[in-house]
Amino acid sequence: MALRWDPRIMIRPPYVPCPACGESAFGTLSISNNHWIRRCRSCNHTGTTRLPSLQKRLIYVDQMVLSNIAKALDPVWRETRGEQDSFWVELFKGLERLVKMQLAVCVESPIHDQESAVTPYAATLRRLREYLSEKVEFHSPIVVLQHQLHNALRSVEANVPVTLDTYLGAGARDVTDGRLDQWADRLQISVNFARSGDDIESYRRSRDQAGNAMEHIWARWATQSGRRFQDWYDEERRSLYPTWTGLHRQHVLRMERYTYGTQRPEDMEDIINPGMAVMVVFGLLHHFKEAGCSVTQAHERLQTFFSSEAALQAPANDISSLLFAALARKAAAGQKKVPNRGTPNDINAISSYLPYCQALFVDDQFAGLLREKPLVTQLQRYGASVYSNNSRDAFLTFLKQVESDAPPDHVARVIEVYGEDWLTSFDSILADERARRAPRNT
Ligand SMILES: [Zn+2]
Repeated sequence: MALRWDPRIMIRPPYVPCPACGESAFGTLSISNNHWIRRCRSCNHTGTTRLPSLQKRLIYVDQMVLSNIAKALDPVWRETRGEQDSFWVELFKGLERLVKMQLAVCVESPIHDQESAVTPYAATLRRLREYLSEKVEFHSPIVVLQHQLHNALRSVEANVPVTLDTYLGAGARDVTDGRLDQWADRLQISVNFARSGDDIESYRRSRDQAGNAMEHIWARWATQSGRRFQDWYDEERRSLYPTWTGLHRQHVLRMERYTYGTQRPEDMEDIINPGMAVMVVFGLLHHFKEAGCSVTQAHERLQTFFSSEAALQAPANDISSLLFAALARKAAAGQKKVPNRGTPNDINAISSYLPYCQALFVDDQFAGLLREKPLVTQLQRYGASVYSNNSRDAFLTFLKQVESDAPPDHVARVIEVYGEDWLTSFDSILADERARRAPRNT
């Protein structure tokens, strides 16, 4: 018997009386590009309503938050844990409510992806992230910095003063993928793609390398008790040029060895995937040559730009330098505890994404650093609120505030479009995900 597919299953509640035939069968067919398309299950009458435009709040929660939520909601992960902290379920429900109300998204990032890939719960964490982000994802930190530098260079070349708005351009829209300010469709189709073992190995390696480098730098900072905050800060922000051109030079040497057939095995990864910093340097050199520079002149222009305030003040470079300097100050003051392996990733995430977010939930260590002077004053201009475990109740209050700030008819509109049960929490999401991935018995 041939299976017949009934297209009416695509028409979902809520059902209201059809304007054409009067049957209570006029339901939602799809929500896309801020258009709400309804169709009648009885007579096929179709109507389109334009939904009001949205300005969703951007929230960034770090990997620790996602892991804690997943540990509470995933039945397998929960088994491995002792006593539960009910806060994480409460937090999930608070975030989920705003996301479903189309008032906020918890933006995903490639950092989440990498941090999850090295755990046994990568698929679980991905499901959770996709649900809370509605698949809005930040570009990688280096692409965000590149974007800010590119905006700055364009202004410099046009003799226009570089301001904060110059760097940020059109804001989050420029540095995210996904439908940021659109009403979401109700069906979240999640495609599971398995990461190769090589990818995971490479994440683990770069995470370890960054962690080792951190320990090394920490030991050096510990000997620098005579230094001022400003000294570390200047050193960090000025490392942009030597770091990036150093990587570029290494890559050029490896390519030369490859050309002459004298490459070393360790050259190959870089040759296949030179990394974004190298590509950015290539791009800028190309840009200067196109403008009529010789090779030597192009390198000089690169150095001039990378050493200029226009480049150094790019938010991603500036914030990461502030954070490194704040850590250096701790080390020099005698703090014995070396920050953990995830620290470089945390710094990358905060410095790249903070300027685009209304709120961040990070670990206590970083929330503490961000409250110290001069960071707290320097970062005020971005207007982002920073929360952590220590201020967990304030974060829940913030979430409630976002809801009360919404226009008065907003909730009614959400229920009209998505249905009465839409705002019921889907806290079985990770149990369902387990069931979905389990081998079918029939
Ligand atoms: Zn009808």
